[in-house]
Amino acid sequence: MFQDLSFLDEVKICPHCQQTMSLCEAPPIHVGDGLGWGSDVLFICLNDSCPLFLKGWQQIENQYGHHASYRYMEVPGSPEGNCMMVGNADAFKACIVDREELKNQNARYRQEKEATQKLKSCIADHNLEPVMALLLNEGATRSVRDTAAGYLVELNDLACIDPLRNHTFRDTALEQKVNMAITELLKINFKKECPHCLEIIKAQAKKCMHCKEDL
Ligand SMILES: [Zn+2]
Ligand SMILES: [Zn+2]
Repeated sequence: MFQDLSFLDEVKICPHCQQTMSLCEAPPIHVGDGLGWGSDVLFICLNDSCPLFLKGWQQIENQYGHHASYRYMEVPGSPEGNCMMVGNADAFKACIVDREELKNQNARYRQEKEATQKLKSCIADHNLEPVMALLLNEGATRSVRDTAAGYLVELNDLACIDPLRNHTFRDTALEQKVNMAITELLKINFKKECPHCLEIIKAQAKKCMHCKEDL
């Protein structure tokens, strides 16, 4: 997870071609001097018609005698430009950051952090919401979801049953824990689920009030 996401809203223009630069994942090592870039992402001009890139082939051929060119790049939050050597036109094109996806990931991450924080006082607050936010989030931390499942019975809120029943758990152990909690919840509330329509009904009902089926 990236620490600082301010680069997501940053727009950089290549001074060589005036085109918008692409946001790319930084290569793990600064090829030039072995130091890190100091950033997980870099802005790189990936315009194949950029004059720097077009002229670079000849320049490097003349200077170093090998087949490569330059791409213009800047580190987020810094106006300082650099040239990066690339061996072909496709270099870095597979590393373009999907900004929307990253924003979504970050929103999910924040939501999980917030729910984890609220989980500590959910019993005192009679608040089912963080428990549900975590249980229904397949991307959330396993141990935190496990803790959340452990609060279901104590919270004693039957509203949890429907969404949990409709959720597909990838983790079968967690699913089992949730199912056991639901069974317990129904029991302590003298309820059961209608085997025909799955609505929650009185434990001693002989006929379902929802689907009218005999039990
Ligand atoms: Zn350019
Ligand atoms: Zn029914």
